[in-house]
Amino acid sequence: MARTAVRGRLSWQIATVDGVVVETARVRTIVLGVSEWLGHRAGKHLDVRLTAEDGYRAEREYSIASAPGEPVAITVERLGDGEVSPYLTDELRAGHEIEVRGPIGGHFVWDVDHGGPLLLVAGGSGIVPLRSMLRHRRRSESDVPVRLLYSSRAIEEVIYRAELDDRAAGVEVVYTLTREQPPGWAGHARRVDDALLEEVAWPADEAHPPLAFVCGPTSFVETVASGLVSLGYPPARVKTERFGATGR
Ligand SMILES: Cc1cc2nc3c(=O)[nH]c(=O)nc-3n(C[C@H](O)[C@H](O)[C@H](O)COP(=O)(O)OP(=O)(O)OC[C@H]3O[C@@H](n4cnc5c(N)ncnc54)[C@H](O)[C@@H]3O)c2cc1C
Repeated sequence: MARTAVRGRLSWQIATVDGVVVETARVRTIVLGVSEWLGHRAGKHLDVRLTAEDGYRAEREYSIASAPGEPVAITVERLGDGEVSPYLTDELRAGHEIEVRGPIGGHFVWDVDHGGPLLLVAGGSGIVPLRSMLRHRRRSESDVPVRLLYSSRAIEEVIYRAELDDRAAGVEVVYTLTREQPPGWAGHARRVDDALLEEVAWPADEAHPPLAFVCGPTSFVETVASGLVSLGYPPARVKTERFGATGR
């Protein structure tokens, strides 16, 4: 049984595109039908492989955007000069097929029984695996306290905005808009720094240390993770996922 599970996760299989959701001008969520999906936990990612007619292959990693138990979905940000992401966001339509492998990843995972309080910190598309955690929390009817600090360039670039702004979810969401702010914006308007973290993060209570998940471009993740450790978060309670430079 276990052997079958391992082979399943690591083998490439065909996924059918069941739908494409427009999230922002540059971001699409792609809902996939994967017949032999063995299930996933919140925070994991999968590999996507594209093969051109001449046999050239490209592989990239994408976090799983949906909660455990929901259909597999990925959310992709188009990088103008990227090789794979423009194809996924601009060309894929329902009924198309791509190859996937997964779920993959171990440390960057949150199950409801891991508890909290949870601090989620996202830069740009780094919100994707954190959204899976938020949906998992909601579907499990968990009352683990959660705060999300989400850095985007502009309000139009906030991914899953309607979902994040749904107060019924019981999530404290703090946005910071680093490049452009809409008229009358009263929120934060700078990159995440130590002072902003101190303002938003749960205090580092030694008896009940918060659990932090930080995801985004590499430099963002490094700044936030070291800021949280300076605030007294035990390094083992600060989980990180780096998406690479990705042109930001
Ligand atoms: C664990 C993990 C999870 C991820 N999850 C997501 C996700 O949920 N959503 C998401 O949108 N992305 C995610 N990513 C990023 C994703 O894997 C891709 O890196 C991203 O989509 C860009 O791929 P691309 O082929 O379009 O761009 P690439 O062609 O790989 O280019 C990426 C950038 O690097 C630059 N570049 C490319 N080649 C060179 C070169 N030779 N020299 C200098 N610069 C170069 C390009 O200009 C571009 O800006 C994740 C990455 C990791 C590691």
